[in-house]
This record gives sequence, structure tokens and C-alpha cells, in this order.
Amino acid sequence: MIARDMTEMAAWRRHLHAHPETGFEEHETAAFVAEILRAAGLEVATGIGGPGVVATLRRGGGNRAIGLRADMDALLIQEAADRPHRSTIPGRMHACGHDGHTAALLGAAQALTAEPDFDGTVHFIFQPAEEHGRGMQAMLDDGLLSRFPIDEAYGLHNLPGLPVGHFATRPGPLMAAEDNFAITLTGRGGHAARPHVCIDPILAGSAVVMALQQVVARRLDPVAPAVLSVTEFLTDGTRNVIPTTVRILGDARSFRPEVSAIIEAELRRIAEATAAAHGATASVAYTREFVSTLNAAEPTRAALRAAATCMDTLDPECPMLMGSEDFARLLAHVPGNFAFVGNGVDCAGLHNPTYDFDDRALPHMRDYYLALVRDRLPKESE
Ligand SMILES: [Zn+2]
Ligand SMILES: [Zn+2]
Repeated sequence: MIARDMTEMAAWRRHLHAHPETGFEEHETAAFVAEILRAAGLEVATGIGGPGVVATLRRGGGNRAIGLRADMDALLIQEAADRPHRSTIPGRMHACGHDGHTAALLGAAQALTAEPDFDGTVHFIFQPAEEHGRGMQAMLDDGLLSRFPIDEAYGLHNLPGLPVGHFATRPGPLMAAEDNFAITLTGRGGHAARPHVCIDPILAGSAVVMALQQVVARRLDPVAPAVLSVTEFLTDGTRNVIPTTVRILGDARSFRPEVSAIIEAELRRIAEATAAAHGATASVAYTREFVSTLNAAEPTRAALRAAATCMDTLDPECPMLMGSEDFARLLAHVPGNFAFVGNGVDCAGLHNPTYDFDDRALPHMRDYYLALVRDRLPKESE
């Protein structure tokens, strides 16, 4: 019965919520996950890319394999709600619902051991460090795809603001790539009363911040979505001292590598030329933290077919989001689909200190994975 299953999945979810661990430190979480998977009778491999866990279930003689993936990490946030399962670790909290993602995939793994209606291999992938954007690469570097080859990969993320039982995805780009930048401007520091013998990096840096606004507005095709935000402006000056250096840090999001390349080139040009115009110098560090999440066409159709069997409402053309997702690193190697499931219209937003995963979403997510396995690894294929 759904009610009994939900109680067990909800109990797992609440245990994880009460014991949050952040990126690459999910050791107790991984042990908890591995224990449930072993008890269900699956083959379990641990220590992949740090605390990553992969459980495998084979049925019949089929050669096809799919990967179902959940993330296990929490955030450095102090939970601000008083609830029975609130975090027991100060300053750490499951504020992104990865506790729910993990519990739902555990529920699917357990239920599939009693499911005769598929033929092939399912790898259940529990990754660390999604929020860092480092965990999936660590698992890939540790041989994830050579040890556990898969034809397709699927993942889910809860989304506050959508009703429980709602499923939303789209073919093509779904979530953005994230780049980070750090511009260091060097001038000549000195006395605040003698600016004419200094080179003021604050003035140069202010001009850089203003000029960066033209990258999206005037250098990118208006139909190519992108955003560039300066988020930190740090100086080594003090009350009566003109600083020597200014550091300008920020974040740029886009959906296509060509757009990211233009942003980097324009940012470097603007920083260096604007600094030179002020007699200062600029050095730029530009890094790519997340790739964009690209959904393949046929897996997305399959995801929608599976969702139609267990969700209340479907949105097959949901809007793209400028947020980023580490699962995209896996989708860069194998085709697949990433989708959102509703976490309630009145729920606090992701990463908010009062957020909580809605346990009513668990059976929807578990049944989605079951339907997906039947769809992608059909018994009739042999
Ligand atoms: Zn998050
Ligand atoms: Zn998340």
C-alpha cells in the first residue's frame, strides 16, 4: 500500500533531514543509504568519488542499462524552523530537499527488487557534493561510467511553488551553466588626501562594474539567455587610505558554450582595457563550475510517459531556469532527462532556512522511477 511505503520512505527522509552532511562529507549518509540498499538485496559499491554509492539491480539477459541518480548533500545553513525532524547539526541543513531525493530513490530501489516486469540493469547512483558542483565529476573521475556503464541517465529535483504531484521538464536546455570570475585590479595605494600621487583602483573597479553591464545588454544575441552578476567588491583600503588592490568577484550563467566563451572574452577585454584607461592593471581568473543541463529528446519523451502514469499534472515545456545542476555533468556523457517535481505551492524556497521537503512527493517520485524502468528496460525487448 502507498500509505505504508510512504511511511517508510518518510522515516528515511526525516532521519536524513535530522542528520545533514555537506559536500564530500556525506559519510554517515552514504552508510545509511548503503545499509538500506544491501538489506533490499542489491549489489552495493561504496567510496566512489568520495562518499558516492552505486547500487545495481539486474534482471533477465538484456544488455541495456540505465542510471537513476539522487544527490545526498546538505547546505551550510542554520535551520530556522522548529519541527520534530529538524537538523541536529548546528549550521547544517537539508535546505535543498536532497534528503527527499535520496529517500525516493531508496524507495524505488527497494520496490524494484520485487518488480519482475523489466529486463536489463538499473544502477542507482547516489552522488555527493551536488551543491559544490564537484561531486558528479569526482564520481566520473573514479570510473563511474566504466564500472557501471549506462545507456541513459535520469534525475529529479523538487521545486517549491509547484503543487505536489506536478511534473515539469522540457527537451533541450533546462538549467544554465555557471561560470565564476575574479578580477584583481592593481593600482597604487596611498593617502586619501593625496589621490594625485595614487592610482585609485576603486575608481577603476567601479568603471569595470559599470562596463560589465554591457556584456549581456550589448555583446550577446538577445535571444541567447544569459546573466552576469557582480557579487563581491573587496578592497585593502581603510578609512584614510586609498587601496592598492580591488577584487571584483561574480557569477555568469548561460546555456551554450559559445555564449560562455563570449562572456569570458568580453569580460577579460573590458577589465584589462578599463584598468589601463585608469593607469591600473587587471588580472582575470575565469572558471566553469557547472555545465548546462541538456535534456535529450527521446529520454524526455520517456520521462513524460513515465510521469503520466503516476503524477497528477505534467508540464512538457516548462521554462528554462538560470540555476545550475551538477547532474548536467553526467548528461554531458550519456543522454537522459532531468525533471522537476512539485514540492507544494506554499513551500519556502530552496536554500531558505525554513524550507522542508514535502513527504507527499515521495510516492510520486518512487512510482515515476518504477514506470521509467519498465519503459526503458522493457521485458519484451528480449
Ligand atoms: Zn541546492
Ligand atoms: Zn538541490
